[in-house]
Amino acid sequence: MTEKTQPTDAELFALIKEHFGLDQRRDDTVINRSTGRFHDAQRYRDFAAAVLAIAKWGQPAQAQADSVQEDAALQLIADLVRHIDRETCTHEETHRGGAIWEICNSCGSMWADDKGGKPEFKWPDCVEKARAFLDAARKQGASQ
Ligand SMILES: [Zn+2]
Repeated sequence: MTEKTQPTDAELFALIKEHFGLDQRRDDTVINRSTGRFHDAQRYRDFAAAVLAIAKWGQPAQAQADSVQEDAALQLIADLVRHIDRETCTHEETHRGGAIWEICNSCGSMWADDKGGKPEFKWPDCVEKARAFLDAARKQGASQ
């Protein structure tokens, strides 16, 4: 079953009669009986479509403002992740120092063998989650 998104002509003309006092005259023409003037029903179709769109998605202007804010938030998260990437040393190259020390070539961090040595590098959970979130948002954006 498809979702109903437009009123039928019968429903539309009933509403035009009820709210604007105009009678259907021909397929897409209505008449104002007090003035005898004809009107194109298209403007009432457009009106019905606009009302339905607002009912479904909220105010168009609000939806647009929300999407601009969403884009800004995504960009902000992307910039933060990039900054953390750039500023974080993953301690890939190390050298030995003294009898018990392992020392990072890049940042100078030191780990003592008798304190467990250098731990496996792990990105913080919040960084991993932000990356996953950005990936999902990009895929969703690409499929739209
Ligand atoms: Zn390092």
